[in-house]
Amino acid sequence: MKLKAKLTLGIGFLFLVILVFGILGIVSISRLSIDADKILKNNYETLVYDNNMLKALDELPGNQKAFNYFESNLKKQENNITEFGEGDATRLLRTNFEELKRNPNDSSNYREISQAIQLINTINQNAILRKNATAQHTANSAIFWLTIIFSILTILSFTLTLNFPAVISKPVKALAEGIKEIANKNYGNRIVLEQNDEFKELADAINTMAGKLDEYENSNLAKIKFEKSRIETIINQMKDGIIGMDENNHILFLNAVSEKMLGLKEKEIIGQYAPDVAIQNDLMRRLLQDEKQNELKIFADKKESYFNKEVISVSNEDQLIGKVIVLKNITPFHELNEAKTNFIATVSHELKTPISSIKMSLKLLENKITGNLNEDQAQLVDSIKDDSNRLLKITGELLNMSQVETGNIQLNIQPCPPYDILQYAIEAVRVQADQKHITLTVNAATNLPKVKADKEKTAWVLINFLTNAIRYTNEMGEVTIDIQKENGKVCFMVIDYGKGIESKYISKIFDRYFQVPGTIKTGTGLGLAISKEFVEAQGGSIHVDSEFGVGSTFYFYLLS
Ligand code: ADP
Repeated sequence: MKLKAKLTLGIGFLFLVILVFGILGIVSISRLSIDADKILKNNYETLVYDNNMLKALDELPGNQKAFNYFESNLKKQENNITEFGEGDATRLLRTNFEELKRNPNDSSNYREISQAIQLINTINQNAILRKNATAQHTANSAIFWLTIIFSILTILSFTLTLNFPAVISKPVKALAEGIKEIANKNYGNRIVLEQNDEFKELADAINTMAGKLDEYENSNLAKIKFEKSRIETIINQMKDGIIGMDENNHILFLNAVSEKMLGLKEKEIIGQYAPDVAIQNDLMRRLLQDEKQNELKIFADKKESYFNKEVISVSNEDQLIGKVIVLKNITPFHELNEAKTNFIATVSHELKTPISSIKMSLKLLENKITGNLNEDQAQLVDSIKDDSNRLLKITGELLNMSQVETGNIQLNIQPCPPYDILQYAIEAVRVQADQKHITLTVNAATNLPKVKADKEKTAWVLINFLTNAIRYTNEMGEVTIDIQKENGKVCFMVIDYGKGIESKYISKIFDRYFQVPGTIKTGTGLGLAISKEFVEAQGGSIHVDSEFGVGSTFYFYLLS
């Protein structure tokens, strides 16, 4: 049954209850009223007439007024004959009264008249008693039936009151629960309603919607699963090690390469807290410990291998949801680099001897032991000397660099007066400065403390600074050397007023083989890189301040 019909029935029933009860009440009351009316009209009025006639009878005879009064009440009585026997008694009364009218002074029939009136009286009194009993009966019967009907209707209304809310609340509850299940993505759940009403229609519509959502979810799930397996395959086939973690450092996935590197199987550690795994696994510990360290040396593939570690943070709508550690195997590059370094070391070492003998030969030529040189020959000898000096510098730098790269810097750190280092460096560049007529201004503080340094390497750095400064300073210019004490350190500073360095190149200036674009390629681009390595190996730090077109200041600190 439809909800609308149920509501109509329920409300209709209540309306019927009110109607039935109302009609019954009205009918019963009107029946009682009719009965009372009848008693009043048929019998009570007769009693009044009789009473009036008895009073008039007392005043007879000789009283015309009493006669008339009697006459008028008798007429009224004759018009109000309602009971059985009342007509006979009234006619008897009329006969006797007529006789009295003929002989007004004869009071012999007073008795008959009085008796006739008494008879009418008695008949009507009995009738009143009988009608009262009937009215009583009608009232009792109305009370009885009204009570019965009231009880039945009360039971029915009570039952309706108890059951009717459930007609609405039960399906509404079932619908609410069904919708809740859908909200919880439990799309397989269905709302089952037994009735066949609007709620059922609504439940069917919701079930259809859940079915569609289920279908959509499943098709999406299948798509997501497919995409997941595709990404997993790609990750697994990558040559780099890849480890995925969630934002709480729980392991999400490992590809085949990282499984091999870690010596762990993905299914053994998936979902585990990475620091827990790190307790048993050295590599995992190193991966988690040094977030910033990019290059890792790991024993993998039965040999020492080098990996470049990159930690990629994964975020969704600005919220960190995990990270991916990518381990790129750079062992082949390392091997090539090592081969290059070894080659450079061997070549530069092998070149040093012939260059030294060239220099020796040049010295002999200059000494004129081997004969006098004409002007052109002397110029050629000078040029060969310059070139061989440059060659020696380059091979020296290459050798130093290969030492740095192989980690073979031999340091002889000893307390050393800064003035000694300064002196040594100035002597070394004096000729170059003189050739360009450059003034070397020394601005060293007095009572400088000794520095903990390798004298030769530190002098080498200062010479490199000075050589560069002289190179980039115009003829007749000035280069200042400043040495000061600063917070337990000594600062060596070389200031020039040459062309300076563009700010975009400053961060690269200490990189190996870097030369500012446009520089005359006289050097190797290794001098500053080696300087940095030498200074840092001694526990110091190296810096540059430069303004393009104004000049540069290169400086380093050493511990005193
Ligand atoms: P090299 O001098 O052999 O090229 P360096 O490492 O000593 O190598 O210097 C690297 C580069 O830095 C130089 O090529 C030059 O472009 C720039 N540079 C170094 N010193 C100065 C300086 N005082 N003024 C301007 N540029 C400089």
